[in-house]
Amino acid sequence: MNHLVASYLEPDNLGAWGTYLEQVDRVTPYLGPLSRWVETLKRPKRTLIVDVPIELDNGTIAHYEGYRVHHNLSRGPGKGGVRYHPNVTLSEVMALSAWMSIKTAVVNVPFGGAKGGIRVDPKSLSLGELERMTRRFTSEINMMIGPQKDIPAPDVNTNEQIMAWMMDTYSVNQGHTATGVVTGKPISLGGSLGRRDATGRGVFVVAKEAYADMGFDITQATVAIQGLGNVGGEAARLFDRAGAKIVAIQDHSATLYNPSGFNVTELLKHVALTHEIKGFNGESISAESFWSTPCDVLIPAALESQISKVNANAIQAKLIVEGANGPTTPEADDILQERGIIVVPDVIANAGGVTVSYFEWVQDFSSFFWTEEEINQRLDKIMIDAFRGIVSVAKTHNVSLRTATFIVGCERILKARQLRGLYP
Ligand code: GLU
Repeated sequence: MNHLVASYLEPDNLGAWGTYLEQVDRVTPYLGPLSRWVETLKRPKRTLIVDVPIELDNGTIAHYEGYRVHHNLSRGPGKGGVRYHPNVTLSEVMALSAWMSIKTAVVNVPFGGAKGGIRVDPKSLSLGELERMTRRFTSEINMMIGPQKDIPAPDVNTNEQIMAWMMDTYSVNQGHTATGVVTGKPISLGGSLGRRDATGRGVFVVAKEAYADMGFDITQATVAIQGLGNVGGEAARLFDRAGAKIVAIQDHSATLYNPSGFNVTELLKHVALTHEIKGFNGESISAESFWSTPCDVLIPAALESQISKVNANAIQAKLIVEGANGPTTPEADDILQERGIIVVPDVIANAGGVTVSYFEWVQDFSSFFWTEEEINQRLDKIMIDAFRGIVSVAKTHNVSLRTATFIVGCERILKARQLRGLYP
């Protein structure tokens, strides 16, 4: 049984793109004269579907469907990850690319929004097959990407090695090494210190700030985390280090509860070794009961549409900080708001990754690399300043943090759109 499908497949679920469109509709009344341009946010600038054929180790030929979407490039080159997942669809990648447009605008890094993906279960591939698929995909999307055009990065099930293959494939086709074509690369190939942990770090920094705003101290918090991958794992480490207790965890393999708090160091070792939480010490509970577990802070850090009208009423947390992209449906947003549960939305909460991707891109261009301390300091400042700005917009308009974040992001994008004007 997959513990992550709770509400993902509900018949009335709008899907990620539907969720995004609803979020834009909700913010439109606050955009004033800029709302004239809002339609631009409701359609991607360009989408590409590619066939990715590779020879498998057993000699047969397999075909995978791949996507790259440029949602909006008004503020700069496209930026966004590449996801390998058996359920990836074009409309999901469209939504993820749109959230990148909003996210890069919210933290004010000079990028537009893009995203890519391949519909594949990467666990079914050998390392050689994974490399061949990655290289063929990179070659097929060659016309979309480039250091000044669109810069891919890791996302679900992609990592530094995959970025190294993408960088190499693009560079070989160009005839020169172009490190700035992807971010999230290995350090030895122009990657940035702090990039791998940046998303999880941003989640923790923003959670701490939001919890303090509510009058509470993060060191005393109990925390539930869905997804112990790159984002949830680092967030868990930082919550634990700060003295908070991780009391519930869930991934595709299991849902575990431990009211006295998991040993996070051991948990992360277990996950590094087995790639799942199954088999770790703790009371095994049903997938649904994860949501009703008593806790102060809930971190969804897995996939979209996990918090829906089915489980939003059961949530016990005071604060939800979205490590994943699109984990909450609009209906669930309404329920949570009514119940007084604060939601820090994905487009600020998980923006730490793309912020350090921006640092990496800048470092690659100048061939001058910063210390981890400098990177973390700049990251923390950008995250905290952006969050403070959103809180003040939320107060001014008396709206949720999600609506306030979308106001900030959409305004920046649409102002750029308006200034550039239409051609012809
Ligand atoms: N995949 C990450 C995200 O969803 C990071 C994208 C990037 O660094 O470009 O924000």
